[in-house]
Amino acid sequence: MSLSAELREEMRLVSLVFPFRVNSYVLKELINWNDPTDAIYRMVFPRREMLSPAHFERVYNAERANDAVLLAQTVAAVRRELNPHPAGQTTKNVPRLADGTALPGLQHKYKATVLVFPRQGQTCHAYCTFCFRWPQFVGDTQLRIETSDINGLIAYLREHPEVSDVLFTGGDPFVMPSAVLRKYVDALLAAKLDNIRSIRFGTKALSYWPFRFTSDADASDLKEILKSIIVAGKHLTIVAHFTHPHELGPSAVKQAIKVLQDCGAVIRTQTPLLRGINDSANTLAKLWQSQVSLGCIPYYLFAARDTGAQHLFGVPLAESCSIFREALSACSGLVGTVHGPVMSAEPGKIEVLGAQEIANEKVFQLRFLQARRAEWCGRLFSAAYDEKAQWISDLRPAFGASHFFYEA
Ligand SMILES: *Cc1c(COP(=O)(O)O)cnc(C)c1O
Ligand code: SF4
Repeated sequence: MSLSAELREEMRLVSLVFPFRVNSYVLKELINWNDPTDAIYRMVFPRREMLSPAHFERVYNAERANDAVLLAQTVAAVRRELNPHPAGQTTKNVPRLADGTALPGLQHKYKATVLVFPRQGQTCHAYCTFCFRWPQFVGDTQLRIETSDINGLIAYLREHPEVSDVLFTGGDPFVMPSAVLRKYVDALLAAKLDNIRSIRFGTKALSYWPFRFTSDADASDLKEILKSIIVAGKHLTIVAHFTHPHELGPSAVKQAIKVLQDCGAVIRTQTPLLRGINDSANTLAKLWQSQVSLGCIPYYLFAARDTGAQHLFGVPLAESCSIFREALSACSGLVGTVHGPVMSAEPGKIEVLGAQEIANEKVFQLRFLQARRAEWCGRLFSAAYDEKAQWISDLRPAFGASHFFYEA
């Protein structure tokens, strides 16, 4: 496959709106350049179809007008129309200290878990075309969630004994140099917070830069930091994002997984289900089976969120359920730890258990895995079946109800 001038030009225009970054490892070890439909290529290289024809045309025309101000305004306007912060992230989940101080680089939505967005970790080794966090990376600080306030984090955790988990996320916290990461972890451990039982890191570095854990100059320092979490008596989970089985092929990633496990980490995995990338039962089964072989625990299969290029990557929930069931049926029970398809939506993490007919009505059965209000956790509810629905906002309550129970 070679990239024509036209393709490159389209890519350049799309990358004015969405972030684009790739590295030598992804280019050389992951992408199969002989396959024009290669999944990894589609995971990182922007495509014209990521913008609607109308948005593409607006960017195209603004660019041709040769007016930098107009172009910047057009790009900003298109971004705003792509629902940059789904589920009310910038407003609804921002915690405050008892004295009223807001902590904008933290999110506390589910009782037990606080998310931390360390300022220096708000980037990734490569960017995914389908990423729901794309506004973090486009240089628009108004759209960014981030913190460097370690003391604010610790004060908040002290005030909230119900919090047991701290989850470092981004971006990718493992783009931070070990010396920076150490400041966060050392301060957290030195605070001796008995309520904190688990520390998690969400990362795609195993896929996009496994050398972070093996041969980078500060890889051994990172190992010491991770081990110190175990020594302090905390549980350490790495939530690794894998999208396609090819990411697990190279020996570098296998070595990196081993390094993390040797530190005492449990690796759980999450995967978004994406049209044209991994939307087949066979692909998912291979992905989960490889993970289990490597000692990783399949955790979440997510539906594409209602932001960015969802129109291109989203898969209807009905089809997602079929793919999920067929993939699971090809695997042993060790894959059954995975939940999916899951919508990480405004009221909570909602799992679509499946479709069935009840009292002459075809419905989706849904369940809250996590919820903004803890008492909703585990609750089942039904929605009218809709073959095309991709997201909770596309669904209506079943049995003629006027609203879902949580909307009361
Ligand atoms: C997914 C998620 C978590 C973690 O949920 P678990 O069920 O504990 O894995 C925490 N906070 C937010 C906002 C999330 O979306
Ligand atoms: S690695 Fe994660 S945060 Fe980074 S671009 Fe991909 S999906 Fe988004």
